[in-house]
Amino acid sequence: MNNTLTLTQEHYDQLKNHLIREDGLERVAYILCGRSFLENNIWDEEHEERFLSREIITVPDEELIESEKYKVTWDTNSFLAVLKKAESKNFAIAVVHNHPTGVNHFSSVDDEHEPALFKLAFNRNGGTRAHLSLIITPDGNLIGRAWDCNLRSTDLSFIRILGDNYKFLYPHQKKFHTHEAFHRQQLAFGKTLIQDLSKLKVGIVGCGATGSATAMLLARLGIGHILLIDKDVVEITNLNRLHGAKSKDIDKPKVKVIALEIEEMGLETKVVPIQDWVSSNEAKNALKSCDVIFGCTDDNSGRLLINRLAYFYLIPVIDMGLAIIVSNEEPPSIRNLNGRVTVLFPGCSCLLCNGVINATQANAESLKRNDPDGYERLKAEAYVLGEQNPSPAVITFTTEIATVAVNEFIHRIQGYRSTGAVNHRLRFFHMDMDLKPLNKSRIECKICSNTSYWGRGDMEPFLDMV
Ligand SMILES: [Zn+2]
Ligand SMILES: [Zn+2]
Repeated sequence: MNNTLTLTQEHYDQLKNHLIREDGLERVAYILCGRSFLENNIWDEEHEERFLSREIITVPDEELIESEKYKVTWDTNSFLAVLKKAESKNFAIAVVHNHPTGVNHFSSVDDEHEPALFKLAFNRNGGTRAHLSLIITPDGNLIGRAWDCNLRSTDLSFIRILGDNYKFLYPHQKKFHTHEAFHRQQLAFGKTLIQDLSKLKVGIVGCGATGSATAMLLARLGIGHILLIDKDVVEITNLNRLHGAKSKDIDKPKVKVIALEIEEMGLETKVVPIQDWVSSNEAKNALKSCDVIFGCTDDNSGRLLINRLAYFYLIPVIDMGLAIIVSNEEPPSIRNLNGRVTVLFPGCSCLLCNGVINATQANAESLKRNDPDGYERLKAEAYVLGEQNPSPAVITFTTEIATVAVNEFIHRIQGYRSTGAVNHRLRFFHMDMDLKPLNKSRIECKICSNTSYWGRGDMEPFLDMV
């Protein structure tokens, strides 16, 4: 079993502020965590249990019995109160303390005291799923272990800290096994980043013009694991913009064509193609195993799903789109040529609030998939929107928007830009101008205005979608 943790940057900062102080004493905090369980992991044989931060609860100084340089003991009433909070939704608890002297492993005192603490958790809340203990050192490094119901511990294999910046922590991070092909990129970004990229699992939803461009860029950037999801096959009218597609590929699944193109690069990328809707069970499970997802679909109901997934599972979605609006003349003149890159994650406004998803269109699309007869009936009665005519598409613009999206991702990992992260960027090609509108969550939005779904993880129904 692989145990991993995702912390929002906001929660990580709260932990650091409480635990890392000038006085150099040990303190304690808890993280209430949602759970995501991956039974059929697409990348390897191992199951993954992923812990997702929902809330930080600090133990105030007056509840500390001993707080020294090498030791902390505290009243367990606060632990019981957090267990009570976790009980009804089967949340996990992470107990976090600091090692002010920088010792980055669990001490013999920790080994001695933790089993009793977690025994209390299993006795109080029942269940067989693990809880966590974590150590933070003054440099902000985190290590952790999961305690199972038999009070055996396993080290966390991966920790993600995600927000305006993405930080990944894992054992042997300084071993530097990097592929020679990335040497020139290493000169720009250093060894650790190249190795981090090789560890990452990145999903691409939609493998058309922007999706195929994103896939090629991510593979050559050195992303180690790429998931491709798209139901469609290559058509002759795709050849003007689908990276990797050749005329002999017509009628072949887009995901298979792109996967082969990446494999032939010889960069040791593991590619998993899924030729299905994003709402299929196979695709949903695969998406849960990603560290980051790129949204490259025009499909509104697919967008609705990844829009929720970002907040429920703390997996950043970098969503993109392009619209070309022309006049009715021949030749047409360009009225509007807009690209968009939107980042979805707790703290960012969602696609519904940004007006990107057309809810009527989304309903029509899922109706058409699930009840084709009902869809035709309603279409005849003009209750649903019919399909739109093929929209104009030009490779230079779709590829540029994919590049803008991937560069947003690189900035968040590497920090090359002095102006910071951009959650919502509109590129007006016809005016040669970028706009970066501020977040505008609607107060009634359950996804991005309310924290109750953030880090919620697994629940029935999936993503609370009926
Ligand atoms: Zn300790
Ligand atoms: Zn919203």
